[in-house]
Amino acid sequence: MDRRCNFSLSTIKRRLEYCGWRCEGKLPDGRRCPTIVTKGRFRCDHVIPDRLGGKPTFENAQILCLQCDGVKTPRDLAQIGKARRQEVADYRVKPRSSRPLPCGKRSPFKKKIDGRVVMRHG
Ligand SMILES: [Zn+2]
Repeated sequence: MDRRCNFSLSTIKRRLEYCGWRCEGKLPDGRRCPTIVTKGRFRCDHVIPDRLGGKPTFENAQILCLQCDGVKTPRDLAQIGKARRQEVADYRVKPRSSRPLPCGKRSPFKKKIDGRVVMRHG
């Protein structure tokens, strides 16, 4: 997924120094995420999404590890209100019957060309 990131490199660097290369995301229980991010393995995220007027400033930036970024993104979308409800249809594929076809190869009976049904030999 390629998300827009308007932060300048200097802003990202300042933010990384500020947070000590530690993810600024919050865990579901409210604690700060303990993940230490490394080069190329983090996201500089908007605290207020840019589409909601968030500016690409140091104050509106937060360093997120990729896990936290993956958690936050759907929440952003819901906040923006553009997340379309996707109703997944419950397609259920009928399991194939294990019953042998009448007079098929797996049936003990065999239908002769003249229409008579006889026991399969063997
Ligand atoms: Zn994190």
